[in-house]
Amino acid sequence: MRLTPFLILCALANLTIGSSRADEAKKKAAATKPKQHPTGYTDTPYLPGGKWRVHDDARPRPEVVTPGKNASNAPSDAIVLFDGKNADEWIMEKDGSPGDWIVKDGYLEVPPKGTGVGGYIRTKREFGDVQLHIEFATPEKVEGNSQGRGNSGVFFLGAHELQVLDSYENESYADGQASAIYGYKPPLVNACRPPGEWQTYDVVFEAPKWDAEGNLLKKAYITVLHNGVLTHHRQPYLGPSGHKSVANYNRVLERGPLKLQNHSNPTRFRNIWIRELDFTTND
Ligand code: MG
Repeated sequence: MRLTPFLILCALANLTIGSSRADEAKKKAAATKPKQHPTGYTDTPYLPGGKWRVHDDARPRPEVVTPGKNASNAPSDAIVLFDGKNADEWIMEKDGSPGDWIVKDGYLEVPPKGTGVGGYIRTKREFGDVQLHIEFATPEKVEGNSQGRGNSGVFFLGAHELQVLDSYENESYADGQASAIYGYKPPLVNACRPPGEWQTYDVVFEAPKWDAEGNLLKKAYITVLHNGVLTHHRQPYLGPSGHKSVANYNRVLERGPLKLQNHSNPTRFRNIWIRELDFTTND
């Protein structure tokens, strides 16, 4: 075949079309490939304090924690204080003997009045700043009224009470109802479930801080979700809780056990786990 100028032009046009198609394919491939982002920066300004830059690539990444299957299950870095099988983490407050509360069907129950050693139980371990998850159920059979109905309590450092009570259609003073900072602050709302139903407290507790001379540097603070509903947002305590008295910080207390109240009402607990935190540093 003779190459006429027409055929040469056609061949050149085909080549051009072919190469532009290849360019397009390349562009398309580049467009579908995820853009690579920097993992951090080394040239950004320093944050206040001068330790880390904004988006600092050298800043340690947070530790990996595997969450529980649902919000009730302990995450991988929690200390399980009650898993439904035994109360080995607990002892009697008054004499350190083994806890005498009833372990049954996966829960821990306040024993009937006049049985066992009697009294509050506390953890063998001591804690400062913590995140706590605890579930409770007040007695299904409703007996008593006001503070005599499903009364118990969770005490941080063995001293700062978060009230447990059957406050479902049960009239009692506001700073003594379920989820109250007992004797001081009522919860923001009453999020109680009916008697016998399992309820949850998810808490962040900040322990008070003191200097070497025993002067208070920082009060205790608590944040509480009751059945997933916010009832306290970083609420300060007046001090260790008392009955018919105004609390105050009259003793140096930075660490202590978690304590559960025996108020002679057969209140039940389960799924108790705690994560140790440290709010003294904020790097
Ligand atoms: Mg109580």
